[in-house]
Amino acid sequence: MNIKELLKTEITLSVLENINTILKNLIFSAKDTKDSVYKELAEIIFSTLDIAVESDKAVEYKQELLALKKELYFNSALLSTISVRENLKKLFEKKEKLEEEYFNQLQEKLKQAVKALTYVMNTLTKDISNYGDEFQTHIDQIDSLVGLENIDVDEISKKLIGIALKIKESTISMNNKIKQLSEIIEKSKNTIQQLQEKLKEAQENLIIDPLTKVYNRRGLWHFLEHEIEKARRYRKNLSIIMCDLDKFSEINNTYGHQVGDKVLEVFANTIKSLSRSSDIVTRYGGEEFLIIVPEANLEQAYFFAEKIRTATEKLKFKYKDKEFYITVSLGVAQFREEDTIETIIERADKALYKAKKTRNSTVKEIL
Ligand code: GH3
Ligand code: MG
Ligand code: MG
Repeated sequence: MNIKELLKTEITLSVLENINTILKNLIFSAKDTKDSVYKELAEIIFSTLDIAVESDKAVEYKQELLALKKELYFNSALLSTISVRENLKKLFEKKEKLEEEYFNQLQEKLKQAVKALTYVMNTLTKDISNYGDEFQTHIDQIDSLVGLENIDVDEISKKLIGIALKIKESTISMNNKIKQLSEIIEKSKNTIQQLQEKLKEAQENLIIDPLTKVYNRRGLWHFLEHEIEKARRYRKNLSIIMCDLDKFSEINNTYGHQVGDKVLEVFANTIKSLSRSSDIVTRYGGEEFLIIVPEANLEQAYFFAEKIRTATEKLKFKYKDKEFYITVSLGVAQFREEDTIETIIERADKALYKAKKTRNSTVKEIL
């Protein structure tokens, strides 16, 4: 997977854009709910701003983030001021840049480590072949002794002992060298393995949503583009499903943000458990998920969406001694020849909008 390409396609400020819309809507809400929602929003923003990068610049970034966190902790309504939003925007950009830099650095380190290993292996091979030549010389010497016509046993014995001593020396030196090089190889193998693990983690951080462990928007953009290309080239069916949890803010307001998070996790796992391995589950934003369903026509995707909807309404949640249930609305759209990522999402979104009118329902795109 080409992460660089993936990064280029990402809408870097998508999260902020969502938040902006929510903030605009907030202007019309009552004061108390406004404050609590601001607090909630701040929490969500900060959870998306956490960074898992090791570098001096990342330390700096964390300090800046902490300072802003402190400011917003005392006055969350500051979120509505332009300067604070500008600061957030800068932090988002910085985070993405740091993540990309970190990824590239790891990749470079890995390249160097592999290079070093190759060098050691080459040296080892060369050394072994040098020793081979050396042993061959000894063998030739013994050969020539054995071929002598006038054999003086004493003389030959002396020479043979001399050769044997040399062979012993070479063997000891070869063993030492091999041991030394094997240690170096073992060490670089470990370094490479560690780097590979770190790289994999960094790569996953780039495209996985930390809360629900499904793909984030970067992942969505990358995979949807790829699937659209495939569907177009091979004339295959492709559909997408947009899901939006119903009245999710009520859950946050009634049971708290952490319970809301748990609900999102459970819901994402429910989708995953109903998916085939070729389906791609992504978090579109907040409580909205988008599922890419390759090789499915509108009817098949609708059937899948209905399975998700009915499984969701059966999920039972517990908070203290209270039980509660959730529902989800879904919109389905099928890929068309002339589609781009934006146009297919737009149609699924329109269908979802229609589904929202009754909630707990699935609507197919309007053909
Ligand atoms: P509707 O039925 O019309 O979809 O209403 P809704 O309340 O689900 O939709 P709305 O868009 O008004 O609110 C979505 C809420 O989701 C707002 C935000 O506080 C919350 N949210 C977004 N991301 C997260 C998150 O990561 N964790 C939690 N707990 N809440 C989140
Ligand atoms: Mg929503
Ligand atoms: Mg919703």
